[in-house]
Amino acid sequence: MTDEVEQEVSTGSLPVWDQVERLAQEAHARARGHDEGVVADYIPVLAEADPSLFGVCVAEARGGPVHAVGDAAVEFSVQSISKAFVYALVCEEHGHEMVRDRVGVNNTGLSFNSVIAVELNDGHPMNPMVNAGALATTALVPGASSAERWEHVRTGLSRFAGRRLELDGVVYRSESATNTRNKAIARLLQSYGRIDLDPLEVVDVYTRQCALRVSARDLAVMGATLADGGVNPVTGERVVSGQVCRDTLAVLAATGMYERSGEWLFEIGLPAKSGVSGGIVAIAPGKGAIGTFSPRVDPAGNSVRGRLATAYLSRALGLNVFASSAQPSVQRGADASGRRA
Ligand code: GLN
Repeated sequence: MTDEVEQEVSTGSLPVWDQVERLAQEAHARARGHDEGVVADYIPVLAEADPSLFGVCVAEARGGPVHAVGDAAVEFSVQSISKAFVYALVCEEHGHEMVRDRVGVNNTGLSFNSVIAVELNDGHPMNPMVNAGALATTALVPGASSAERWEHVRTGLSRFAGRRLELDGVVYRSESATNTRNKAIARLLQSYGRIDLDPLEVVDVYTRQCALRVSARDLAVMGATLADGGVNPVTGERVVSGQVCRDTLAVLAATGMYERSGEWLFEIGLPAKSGVSGGIVAIAPGKGAIGTFSPRVDPAGNSVRGRLATAYLSRALGLNVFASSAQPSVQRGADASGRRA
């Protein structure tokens, strides 16, 4: 599994700048009228979000300014989308194998905060994008104390975004006062010997990471860093290795949209991660990323308008990683050596 080959890159490129700009606007216009879904309220303060907000942003992996439409600069708490980037930081620290064995890479088929999923798998958290696996991942963040681990997360996610991300204290306190289920999951993992640290301290760092403030534009740049082999295309800084990007995107493809991951991949064909506050980031390796924000979410916790806008852009920009067309330059009927029969 560890055999390395020299080059492993996604093929193709984005359309020209003006066309991406126009299609980003079109994606926003097409999805804007949809008001299905509900604003999440199990974290009390999230219920206060304005459901009319809607931002779309495309960041190109090759750098330069981004394509931002609508409320792309409005900030909201990153929530579960943090799981993808903390996972990347932890993979960078501990490597492919250790994280795969400890946290796992398989979909649970159950909701993001499922306790049963942990029980059904002998205490294995299964994957880093559900709460159990995210807690197990946050427990692997380097640092001698919770404060150091939190700082590692905050600075790491800020490097992905290319600017200093701040904690939303109101969201943090609201979730801290109500996250008994996450505390129960962390205790359950402890009972199975799956986390070595104090479970409540791990939950605290996790709750902070979920309360970092980002915009749709930030999500696009963070995603474009994963699309760009780990180099932030706006700042030029290397944040993680190319291998870590590949590992993270594979996990996102399998699990990033929770129990809807298969359906998402079937319809949209991009690794992606959603958060219950209404953000989605979708990544096209080698090309760029789409960040969207709109607070109304479907029953799995995925933003409805974000899904529609991303689906449109995946198609219109030619991003689906499974899509191919016959290469006109290849001569049909050639034998294995490339010679025509
Ligand atoms: N902080 C939230 C939680 O742990 C994140 C959930 C989400 O975005 N799906 O419940």
